[in-house]
Amino acid sequence: KGPVVIVGAGHAGFQLATSLRQAGFADPIHLINDEPHLPYQRPPLSKGYLKGTGGPETLMFRPQKFYADQTIDLVYDRVVSVQRDARKVLLASGKTLDYGHLAFATGARNRLLDIPNANLPAVRYLRILDDSEALRTLLGDAKRVVVIGAGFIGLEFAATARIKGLEVDVLELGARVMARAVTAEISDYFQTQHADAGVRIHLGVQATSIEADGNKVTGVSLSDGRHIPADLIVVGVGVLPNVELAAEAGLQVASGIVVDEYLLTSDPHVSAIGDCALFASQRFGGTLRLESVQNATDHARCVAARLTGDAKPYDGQPWFWSDQGNDKLQIAGLTTGYDQVVLRGDPAQKAFSAFCYKEGRLVGIESVNRAGDHMFGRKLLAAGGSIGSDKAADPSFDLKSALA
Ligand code: FAD
Repeated sequence: KGPVVIVGAGHAGFQLATSLRQAGFADPIHLINDEPHLPYQRPPLSKGYLKGTGGPETLMFRPQKFYADQTIDLVYDRVVSVQRDARKVLLASGKTLDYGHLAFATGARNRLLDIPNANLPAVRYLRILDDSEALRTLLGDAKRVVVIGAGFIGLEFAATARIKGLEVDVLELGARVMARAVTAEISDYFQTQHADAGVRIHLGVQATSIEADGNKVTGVSLSDGRHIPADLIVVGVGVLPNVELAAEAGLQVASGIVVDEYLLTSDPHVSAIGDCALFASQRFGGTLRLESVQNATDHARCVAARLTGDAKPYDGQPWFWSDQGNDKLQIAGLTTGYDQVVLRGDPAQKAFSAFCYKEGRLVGIESVNRAGDHMFGRKLLAAGGSIGSDKAADPSFDLKSALA
């Protein structure tokens, strides 16, 4: 067996260390953390934390003492190379650590905008605690923000900026907001809510350059020739998985570190979990790389179970959430590849769900302010169940009876 080295102390890395100890793993655990904070939760960075409630300690999974109590060696350092033949990692500080098992939990990093002036100080991204801290301050000073990218993070930020009284423009290349992640029904609803709150959303446009006066941002030029004034730019155009370390170690990488349905690489001593892992899925067929807390933590639990003698293929049921203004979006299942959508509830009442079907079977539910539908979906899908679209659309049908 021997020590477990975990590269990255985000949602997946923290959970793996914790679950290993919970399962009675007694050998050393080295959790390598390249951020200067105790391991913390990322979702609030674009939600509650950004609004300015609470200090960094409110985000931490556990206090310092927890790591000592659990004999989890939290190492503030960065893994710079992996020598698989010697089963060693080299850290930036020059130290080396031996491993019996190595887990990549390296997450993802922001995709950077590649247009003129994108490196100015008022062009910001939102991935780590320091980004959110900086934006909290900038939100206090800025008057006009342009958000580039109408994905979850861009829209969460836009809603907060608007609540704080800023003029907000959102630029999106696609034909609707959150197009890669949700159905058109949900996109339309959120687009209306943001517009009602005073956010201007521009679809089908691209930012071609950031305009500046010296080092000071003055606006953004668009592909359709327009110019939008701004003193702050926030970019949310997706992420790239951190796969380079694994690739340099000779492991297979594609749009993630390639792992099998046990989350194991081709090396039996190396796993990959969370945002960085491209995993084979028995449940969905093919390979998946997901970016969610559920995926990161359930991956971690699966690997912890395997390393303590209870190996099972990974079979987590995806779920996700996003808070935008007063609305809570919750997604159960994978709502991609659907061919039919039925609504339950009423968008006009600001509470409804989109039930998504593929070849007559429920594949996922996207809920707005309907937590009951979401929990129903998680239970039903985890149990491998479905519900007829006529029943889903019938408000008098009691969903609970479909779980019996
Ligand atoms: P991460 O949490 O990114 O952790 C990876 C860690 O590894 C990082 O600290 C990184 O610096 C470190 N690392 C990388 N390379 C090395 C190295 N060589 N040595 C040492 N350390 C290294 N998901 C949801 O489900 N719901 C939400 O509402 C939601 N909101 C989000 C809001 C924001 C602003 C962001 C950024 C993400 C959000 N997500 C949300 C996504 C979710 O946070 C991620 O899916 C999750 O953090 C993935 O966990 P992870 O451990 O795989 O990666």
